[in-house]
Amino acid sequence: MRKELSVFSFKDLLELYPYRHIDKTKVDKIGRLSNDLEYTQVAGKLTDMEVIGQKAGRRLVAHLKDDTGTIELVWFQGISWVQKILQPGHEYLVFGKLGFFMGKPQIAHPELENYSPKNADGKEHLEPIYPSTEKLKSKGITGRMIGKFTGELIKKLSSKDLPENLPESITQQYKLINRFDAFKHIHFPSSELHYQHALRRLKFEEFFFAQLTIQLVKIDRQRFSKGLIFKKVGELFNDFYEHQLPFPLTGAQKKVLKEIRRDTGSGHQMNRLLQGDVGSGKTIIALLSMLIAADNDFQSVLMAPTEVLAQQHFNNIKELVKELPVTVDLLTGSTSAKKRKQVLKNCEDGSLHILIGTHAVIEDKVIFKNLGFAVVDEQHKFGVAQRSRLWKKNTTPPHVLVMTATPIPRTLALTAYGDLDYSVIDELPPGRQPITTVHRNETARPQVMDFIREQLVLGRQAYVIYPLIEESSKVDYENLMKGFEEVKSFFPEPKYWISMVHGKQTAEVKETNMQRFVSGDTQIMVGTTVIEVGVNVPNASVMLIESAEKFGLSQLHQLRGRVGRGTDKSFCILLTGQKLSRDARERLKIMINTNDGFKIAEKDLEIRGPGEIEGTKQSGALNFKLASIIHDRTMLEAARAAVEKIITEDPDLAMAENGPIKSYLQQQKGKTVWSKIA
Ligand code: ADP
Ligand code: MG
Repeated sequence: MRKELSVFSFKDLLELYPYRHIDKTKVDKIGRLSNDLEYTQVAGKLTDMEVIGQKAGRRLVAHLKDDTGTIELVWFQGISWVQKILQPGHEYLVFGKLGFFMGKPQIAHPELENYSPKNADGKEHLEPIYPSTEKLKSKGITGRMIGKFTGELIKKLSSKDLPENLPESITQQYKLINRFDAFKHIHFPSSELHYQHALRRLKFEEFFFAQLTIQLVKIDRQRFSKGLIFKKVGELFNDFYEHQLPFPLTGAQKKVLKEIRRDTGSGHQMNRLLQGDVGSGKTIIALLSMLIAADNDFQSVLMAPTEVLAQQHFNNIKELVKELPVTVDLLTGSTSAKKRKQVLKNCEDGSLHILIGTHAVIEDKVIFKNLGFAVVDEQHKFGVAQRSRLWKKNTTPPHVLVMTATPIPRTLALTAYGDLDYSVIDELPPGRQPITTVHRNETARPQVMDFIREQLVLGRQAYVIYPLIEESSKVDYENLMKGFEEVKSFFPEPKYWISMVHGKQTAEVKETNMQRFVSGDTQIMVGTTVIEVGVNVPNASVMLIESAEKFGLSQLHQLRGRVGRGTDKSFCILLTGQKLSRDARERLKIMINTNDGFKIAEKDLEIRGPGEIEGTKQSGALNFKLASIIHDRTMLEAARAAVEKIITEDPDLAMAENGPIKSYLQQQKGKTVWSKIA
C-alpha cells in the first residue's frame, strides 16, 4: 500500500481522495444494464464460482443473479484470495466497470462486499470510491477497504487534529467551509452539495499554500541573498542608446528595462522571467542590460538553446557593439580546442566582457573574473538547478534574466515560476503587419510554390520546414532530403539558391548555410526545427511548414514567428495530408485564427493539459491533488490574490490573524519539497 499509492502516513491517507462517490441505495437491475453505462453497481446472490483456462488464460469466473438476470464476474489475478473470501450462496453488492462479452454483461475485477438489503438503507453518506491498483486488489486492498481505513481514521480525529490553516478573513471572503468538515465531507459527504463545498475548500487550500510557499521562498531570498550592485548607467550604455540603437524602444521594452535597472541597482540578486511573444524584441533588452553590467565592470554571459541561435546572437551583437570598446566572444560545443582555450583565458582574466554560447557556458571549466549578469534566452524551461549553476559563477551570485521561448498565461507563469520576478513585453515593435496563416492540402503544392515564387520575385525570402520527430530518425532525414530535391525542382539554380540546415550537419556547415540566407545569397531556407527558436531574418516573408499536422501548437507558433519580423506582409502556410485527427484540425484552426502567443498558449493548455507545458513538469508547482489549473482558473486567481494580500501586509506572518497559516507551515516544515527546490 505504501509504495503503490504513496501512502506513508495518516495525512497521506486523508489526502488519498475518492475519485467518485456512489449512492449505495442505487442498485442497477442486472437485466436492464445497457451499453452506455460505464460503471455499475448491482446486488444479488453469488450462484457459482469456478477456475477455468490454462496459464495466461487462467481465470476465476463467478455469476451473480438478481431477480432480473445474471452477470458474469471474472478475475485474472488474485484468484486464490478471491476464492477464499467469496462464498456461493451469499449476497453481495458488486461495483465495477461494466463490459459486455458476447452480448452478456460482465465485470472484470469487481469490488465486492457483503450485502443485505438492510445495509442499503439507513446510510447517511454517499460511499467514496478510491483509486486502487491491480496489485493492491490482488492483495485484498480494494478501493472499498481504503474507504474503511479512512472512515475509521476520521472517526478518531477531531477538529483539533485538523485545525484551520486559513485566517478567518479568507474563509469568510471566499465562503470556505472549515478544514475538518472539508476532510470529512470530501470522503463521506451526506449530499452532493456537501461534497462540492468540501472540494472547493480543499482546492483553494492547495492553490493557496502552493503559491504562498513559493512567495515566502522568494521573500526570503530577496531579504537574505546579497546582490551585486550596478551603481551607474555609464558611458557604454548611454553611447549605445543614443547613437547605435537601430530603432527607438517600444514602451513595453522601456518598462522592462527599467525593471531590470531597478533590480540591478537594489542590492538584491535579480532572478527575472521575461515573457514576450515571438518577435517582441527581447534580445535588445538582453544587450542593453549587459552593457549596464559592463559599465560597472562586470562581465555578462548569454546562453542560447541551440548553436545556430548562439552563433546568430554572436554575429548580431558583435555587429551592434562594433563602435564600442566592448569585447564579445562565442563558446559552443563545437568551438575548437585552441579557440576554447583562449576564450576561457579571457573569461578568467576579465578581458572578455560578453560571452555568448550554448550550454557550454555553464560548464565548471568556464570561470569568470567577475560575472555580473546572465541571460538565458528562449528557454523558460531552464530550471532552478541550472540557474543555481549560474549563481555559483561568482561569490555573490550574478543577476539572472530568463527569456521565454513561448509565452504562457500570466497566472500560470506566476504559479509555475513564482520564485522568479516577472516582466512582460506586451507590445510588438511598430509597423508589424499581422501574419496571414492558411492551411493547404499537399495536392496544392504547385500553387503554394507559385505563391512563394511571387514573394521571391518581390525580393523576399522563404523558409520550408520539415518535421524532425527524432534527431536520429532515418525516415525524417530521407523526407527532408526528398523535400530539398523537390524544392530545388521548383526553384532551379542558378536562378534561385537554396540553403539547408539540419541537426546532422557540423556547426560550421550550419553556420555557412545560415549566413548565406541571412545575407540574402540564398532565397530559400530548407530546414528542420533547428531553426525553430530565435532565428531572425527580417526579410523572410514566407514560412511553409510541411506535414504541419505533426507539430504541436507552440512549435507551430515559434516557427511562424520566424517571419513577420520586418515591415513586409508575411505568410505562414500549413501544408498537411488529407487525413487529420481532430486535435490536429483544432491546432490548425487556432493557428489560422490568432497570432497571439498568449492566446495560443491558453489553447495549448486546454488541449494538452498543464503537464505538457514546457518546463512546468520540473517545476512541480502545478501538480495538485484536487485542483486543476485549467478547470479552476478562477479559483487559482482568487487564491493568488489572497496570497498577494497577505504577503504585502504581513510578510513575516506575524499578525495574530495569520497565526493559523504560520502554525500550519511550521507543522509542514521539512515535508514540503519547496524548501529543497529553492
Ligand atoms: P524575440 O523577442 O523573438 O527574441 P527579437 O529580439 O529577435 O525578438 O526581435 C525581433 C526583431 O524585431 C529583430 O529584427 C529586432 O531587431 C526587431 N526589433 C526589436 N525591438 C524593436 C523596436 N523597438 N523597434 C523596431 N524593431 C525592433
Ligand atoms: Mg529571441
